Amino acid sequence: MLKILVRLYLITIVTFSAAIYLVPALVIGVFQERYVRYNMEQSRGSQSLLLEQFRQVPKDQWPAIATGLDQRFAPLQVNLVGIDDSSFSASEQQRLRAGQEVMRLGDWGTPDLDVSPLDEQRAVALRVPPDPLDMSLLYWSMNVLVGAALLACLLFWLRAHWRDLERLKQTARRLGQGQLSERTNISPRSNIGELAVVFDTMAADIEGLLNQQRDLLNAVSHELRTPLTRLDFGLALALSEELPAAPRERLQGLVGHIRELDELVLELLSYSRLQNPARVPERVMVSLDEFVDSILGSFDEELEAPETVLDVLMHGSLDRFALDPRLTARAVQNLLRNAMRYCERRIQIGVRVNPDGCELWVDDDGIGIPEPDRERIFEPFYRLDRSRDRATGGFGLGLAISRRALEAQGGTLTAEQSPLGGARFRLWLPAVAC
Ligand code: ADP
Repeated sequence: MLKILVRLYLITIVTFSAAIYLVPALVIGVFQERYVRYNMEQSRGSQSLLLEQFRQVPKDQWPAIATGLDQRFAPLQVNLVGIDDSSFSASEQQRLRAGQEVMRLGDWGTPDLDVSPLDEQRAVALRVPPDPLDMSLLYWSMNVLVGAALLACLLFWLRAHWRDLERLKQTARRLGQGQLSERTNISPRSNIGELAVVFDTMAADIEGLLNQQRDLLNAVSHELRTPLTRLDFGLALALSEELPAAPRERLQGLVGHIRELDELVLELLSYSRLQNPARVPERVMVSLDEFVDSILGSFDEELEAPETVLDVLMHGSLDRFALDPRLTARAVQNLLRNAMRYCERRIQIGVRVNPDGCELWVDDDGIGIPEPDRERIFEPFYRLDRSRDRATGGFGLGLAISRRALEAQGGTLTAEQSPLGGARFRLWLPAVAC
């Protein structure tokens, strides 16, 4: 807000100051003649009284009269001047010789010098000296006060704007993080009320569309499970009977396909369940080393393979940390399974806890993930290299599920280059009071 306020204030104050100095100068410049005439009319009485003082006495006493009047008019200055004085321009001299008054205007169109001819050679000049220091200071303090009032006014006006814009920003951020029920709730009377209404309508539309999509996915997956189970059951029955080798082999192939389909449906169901905004993560305090141990326990068989080396690095003192064990374990298991699929020999798991949260990364020394694909691999069904992946038998849903599992807890999952040469998946969970 400070940035907007400073910018707005600078623009306003510079424009205001420039206008205050330039506009009067311009107007007075254009209507110079009218201003001079007006001021002459205003000073006609005082000028005639002044001239009378001189005309009542012989010309040789004019200097003494001028000195006397100068003292009485102080701080204004009264002088006797020669009409052919070089300080007068040719046109001013001409006016004075013709017996006409000459007036020069200062700031704001007020008279600076007023000269009236006494005879063909001399004239009496009434000069207004520059303002004394204290008056100038008073004038500048007035300007400063006007500036301060302007600042206070801008601050007052901007505060409400800023509060609403900040609310809009937070809502957009939360919506992007998947909290689809988030709305701005900005009053329609606010200056950005119309924008907020459009934004809230858009958020409601997006929520509706995504919910429809999730419900459809959920319903289709559920509907698919029943016939799949029946098929599996039917095939198991058929296989329990005496069959020649060739049809038995074909049936067994079909059982494999059905199991694969069933796995896909299960994955889809997990994915759509994680997208359900009503699902609140169940955070409990877990000891992080025990948690990692229990995940590794589920990979006992794979880890026994002598060609894979797995290191676990626990950084600092690993306290207990509040997380949803089921969701987090699901995500880490997916990452470990991928690391095992794609590594050459080495896998490394690192864990670090700091006051802000917990960081866990899974490194491998495999082929890694090209930079442009490091975000796309988290999209459902996105697989990098079909010919390479087909052998690994995934559906491209594992990373999408892992990311949703972490986002549901306010965390993140990102992919980067591993120091081991392959891929690094970095998982981050914020610390929450539990
Ligand atoms: P899948 O179940 O097919 O492996 P994932 O969502 O888990 O799907 O992964 C998506 C794609 O990301 C994979 O097809 C693979 O190409 C790439 N990938 C995931 N993990 C790694 C890894 N550790 N090293 C290299 N590529 C990986």
